[in-house]
Amino acid sequence: MSLKTRLLFFYTSLTTGIVIFFGIAAYVMTSINLSQQMDQMLAETAKNVIDVTRFTNQGTLEVIVNLSVGDNVSVQVWGRNLRLLAYTGNISNLERPMDPLGLQTAAPIFRDVIITNAHMRVYSVPLLVGDRFIGTMQVGSNMAVIDNTLDELFQGLTVAALVGFLAFLVSGYLSTSAILSPLESVRQAALEITQTSDLSRRIPYEGNQQDEVGQLVQAFNLNLSRLERLIETQKRFLADVGHELRTPLTVIKGNVALMRRFGELDDESLTSIVQEVDRLTRLVEDLLLLAQAEAGKMPMARQPVDMDALILEVLQESRVLAREKVKLIVGDFDQARVCGDRDRLKQVVINLVSNGVKYTPKGGEVHVSLEKNDEQALLTVRDTGPGIPPEDLPHIFERFYRGEKSRKRSRDGSGVGLGLSIAYWIIRNHDGEIKVQSEVGKGTTFLVNLPLLLPGKECISDVSLGRQV
Ligand code: ADP
Repeated sequence: MSLKTRLLFFYTSLTTGIVIFFGIAAYVMTSINLSQQMDQMLAETAKNVIDVTRFTNQGTLEVIVNLSVGDNVSVQVWGRNLRLLAYTGNISNLERPMDPLGLQTAAPIFRDVIITNAHMRVYSVPLLVGDRFIGTMQVGSNMAVIDNTLDELFQGLTVAALVGFLAFLVSGYLSTSAILSPLESVRQAALEITQTSDLSRRIPYEGNQQDEVGQLVQAFNLNLSRLERLIETQKRFLADVGHELRTPLTVIKGNVALMRRFGELDDESLTSIVQEVDRLTRLVEDLLLLAQAEAGKMPMARQPVDMDALILEVLQESRVLAREKVKLIVGDFDQARVCGDRDRLKQVVINLVSNGVKYTPKGGEVHVSLEKNDEQALLTVRDTGPGIPPEDLPHIFERFYRGEKSRKRSRDGSGVGLGLSIAYWIIRNHDGEIKVQSEVGKGTTFLVNLPLLLPGKECISDVSLGRQV
């Protein structure tokens, strides 16, 4: 059963049930009320008649005042031995008591009887003089008016319940359709996206964005965006890795062919082969490291590391890279000891400094500084390069993410968009934080915080696995 049918069924039965319940309650209460009024009227009439009824000297009953009772009321006074002593009102069959059973009653009683097809309510009152039973008075009234009223009420309520039921059915159908129709369009759009594999599509929703369906659509669209970006970066990664793998392999193959042709080992060719193999090895190691980091299994040593010495070492090595292209400038420089894996931390500094050198055009500067406060070491790598566009900024720490411009660059030793992602994981695994600030045209600053190894404290050396962040 569809959700719509279930909702419709539930609400229609609920509301119809409520209407029927109140209808029955109204009918029963009206019926009781009218019966009570009738009984009260019969009892009052009986009392009035009894008040004006006396014994004659002969021991018979006699109504001493002319009775005036309503048109609809009849009174019979029966003596013992079924003798009709007095009567008034419109009784068609005088020979018979209105309620034969009522004549035998020892206490006043109301009963419903049928007299020649007419529904009558009869009140029978035994008449006593002292303890002596001398007869029974019966006061009766036709119930046609009450019965008609109740019949009309019943019909009215039945019609109202039916109309209500239909109204609930129609309005329920319309409102559930209105509520659920956006879900139908969500389903349609989701199906079309699956069929066409077009992740750039979004599900349109014109209703209130804050209602449940609006939020569902937003969440779905958000997921689509994530999925689209993920697949896009995977595609780029495949293309980039393919390119990165093919180029060194082509160089190696070319050099080997050259040596084979000349039948001797050429030093230059061998150096080039070694360089390309190193390059391939680095790429594969980076990929492996990221895979381990994402699985929460990054191998990590925990030893005291002097960040100042480490950074100077990297700067020394990077001077070759920077050559006369950019100026490497050392800013404020404190001594700072942290706890961690020296090789991994060195990798972070290399990635940041080499990015600065790589992306800063000729004549630019890369400033490196190391400061500390009571608890943390703060490494800053600032360049005067082109900056990172705001749309790239939230993604640069994602694996395989490369800015549009970087992807268009020719092969210049740039990586495949893994450097910052690796740096991010390494720093997170050292309980630190890496942030970026950048302005297009002005430059980029990377800030790395690491907890200091405070004097007197030791590294917990048995932690060898990184953790999932
Ligand atoms: P890669 O350098 O191999 O492309 P990274 O992960 O190191 O990958 O960097 C990701 C992206 O961030 C780069 O493609 C580039 O667009 C941008 N980026 C990183 N560092 C800088 C920088 N110093 N200046 C400008 N852009 C940068």
